[in-house]
Amino acid sequence: METKGILLDDSQAGRLLKMTCDTLLFLKNDGTCIDMIVKTENNPYVNDQYTLLGKNIFDYFPEETVRELKPAIEYVIRTGEVSNANYDLPAPGQLYFFKCIIQKYDDEHLLCQYRDITKRSQMKKSLQMANERLTETERAAKIGYWSYDTSTRTFDYCGYTGILMKENERFTFTMDEYLKSVYPKDRERLENFFANYALNQMPIEYRIMKDNKLFYLKLKIVNIYSTKDDAAILEGYAQNINDIVSRWDELKMVTQAVDNSNDSFFATKMDGTLIFANPFCRRQNGIPEDVDITKYKAYEEMGNFKDKEMWDNFIEALRANDDTLKYICNYPYPKTNVISSKCISYIIRNEYGEEIIWHIRRDISEQLRYEAQLKKAKEKAEESDRLKSAFLSNMSHEIRTPLNAIVGFSAIMADIDNAEERKKFCNIIESSNKRLLSLINEVLDLSKIESGTLAFDYTPVKINDLYREIFMTHQLCAKQASLVLELPDEEVCINTDKNRLTQVISNLVNNAVKFTPKGTITIGYRLIPDFVEFYVKDTGIGISKDKVDIIFNRFVKVDNFAPGTGLGLSICKTIVERLGGNISVTSEEGVGSLFSFRIPVQPDGPENGGMQDQPEWDPLQPYKSREKATILVAEDIDDNFELIRVLIGSQYRLIHARNGRQAVELFDKYHPDLILMDIKMPEMNGLEAIKAIRGKSPSSPPIIAVSAYAYEEDKRELLDSGCNDFVTKPLDKDVLLTSIHKYL
Ligand code: ADP
Repeated sequence: METKGILLDDSQAGRLLKMTCDTLLFLKNDGTCIDMIVKTENNPYVNDQYTLLGKNIFDYFPEETVRELKPAIEYVIRTGEVSNANYDLPAPGQLYFFKCIIQKYDDEHLLCQYRDITKRSQMKKSLQMANERLTETERAAKIGYWSYDTSTRTFDYCGYTGILMKENERFTFTMDEYLKSVYPKDRERLENFFANYALNQMPIEYRIMKDNKLFYLKLKIVNIYSTKDDAAILEGYAQNINDIVSRWDELKMVTQAVDNSNDSFFATKMDGTLIFANPFCRRQNGIPEDVDITKYKAYEEMGNFKDKEMWDNFIEALRANDDTLKYICNYPYPKTNVISSKCISYIIRNEYGEEIIWHIRRDISEQLRYEAQLKKAKEKAEESDRLKSAFLSNMSHEIRTPLNAIVGFSAIMADIDNAEERKKFCNIIESSNKRLLSLINEVLDLSKIESGTLAFDYTPVKINDLYREIFMTHQLCAKQASLVLELPDEEVCINTDKNRLTQVISNLVNNAVKFTPKGTITIGYRLIPDFVEFYVKDTGIGISKDKVDIIFNRFVKVDNFAPGTGLGLSICKTIVERLGGNISVTSEEGVGSLFSFRIPVQPDGPENGGMQDQPEWDPLQPYKSREKATILVAEDIDDNFELIRVLIGSQYRLIHARNGRQAVELFDKYHPDLILMDIKMPEMNGLEAIKAIRGKSPSSPPIIAVSAYAYEEDKRELLDSGCNDFVTKPLDKDVLLTSIHKYL
């Protein structure tokens, strides 16, 4: 077939027209479509149902399209030029695009070539969008692209790392220039990385130093294009990972803090599933480090949530409190020595929007213990304050009562002629003296206990003898009740402090006498393995049950109006405990009381041959009749000498020295049989005088120190200086005579 000129052959025109790809619209100048060849598929306006035919395109096409199309048609009609432009064709559910080439056919008609470019436009658009997205992602991820020519060692860079270059500008620089910005320690590594590019599939991380600040970069080779002579062009990306590294550092820091915290941290889902627990929490709840906790529920593993019901209640409370709950939990964790915790739980949504409860528990046991101690101390202080006030008012009463008697009766004594009455008053004064003295002794003992200076002097003590002395001393006082002494036949001897032991038993007997209006008071002791048990039993008023347990506490008195300070038993208790024993009481109101105490039998007691015979003497035996012995009395205060003269002047010849020096002189002159030496004196004190006398005559005469100093150390110092015995002021006639009778 002759083909040349076929396209212009009129007879072929219709066939050729059908075969072209564009839709053709033949329009009147007013826009009416009077003919068309359709090549468009699936188009609601321009389709093979010819819906457009006979219609005016300005009425038929959507308004937006007409707005663009109409001026183009008018332009073609007016100028006769060809118009070629792209148009949007919005249809319900889809946006179409078409290209329209409009030509003037004749004065009244137009030919429009309508080409559907919807697919192409859409692809172009989505490509554009993808590009934009990529750029945004690169910008957000701070990624840049580079290529590197190994032959010229030159980089070509463009992108968003934002460290050395501005955003998205192209830069060319050499490796050597670049290395200058790389942190010195990382330079060699980076150079090696590029030198061995073929081996390096993995990215490299290195640092850039700029303005004295470090920036972290991650670089990866993506493509390698070999060129001539073993050289290559490398392509890849670089990412600024500064944020990631610093976040990572922050995360590391937070993780470290949580891991090493002594607070318990754990997180759960709303249904109780555990998703996190720090080491302390695991330790506290006995969950091993390597166990996957997500298999557990908080109410199964955490002791403080007993069961599911308790968990549900907890969630309810959490919700009711705006998703944050503070509470104190008294569940104990013995492994971590915790008795109470301050807790806070709050809900935070995780990145997937799921609600997670974080729980933090802080140990407040120390604080609680401290508060409890404080409370105890406060109560103790209040109690002791109360007791001290009671003690003071009691003391004032205790002091005033005997003092009143002493002052009152002393004043009238001189004017009383009646001998019997005088004797009666004398007895009152003497018993008041004794009461005052024992009060002072108690207070003195208390102060020694407080200051820790209560001293003990251990010697072998025959208990039968000791009991007999006590019995005789108290026999007369116990006027209302009868005093009974129960002693084993065999003498028992123990190593103890005789004075303190006497003090305890006497105190118990005095109490028994005081609180037994009638009946019997039985005193005695018995041997039990390793101990001697002493007892004082009475059939007196007894002690009520509520007081029996506190009767050994200081200042405790059952009856506040009864005489006494409430100190005696507490002093007894201290003494007995210091002697290595313990004291107890059983009592029934209206029936009587049994006070007993045990002290250990010391190993060097008589059974073990440790006992040394003491000089035999009977304290109550009348002094031996003999010629009047001479006693030198060193005493600076005349009244005190006068008292001594009244007490013993009828039995002994007395010589008065007014100070230590005189005492030494008179000793030389008269060679007395015994010396009573006051300690506190002017010019030369008693201690110095004793030393001076003992310097002249080491063993005789016996010297008895007389002093108000009642402390054991003072006594010891005096005894060490050569004095033989010690009596305390104020002087008690019996005590003084007993001491003198030891030697005369
Ligand atoms: P006080 O010096 O006041 O007697 P104590 O400490 O010796 O102090 O005694 C405390 C209290 O114990 C007494 O006030 C008394 O109420 C009670 N008490 C002590 N011994 C007896 C006893 N044998 N019978 C009844 N009550 C006693």
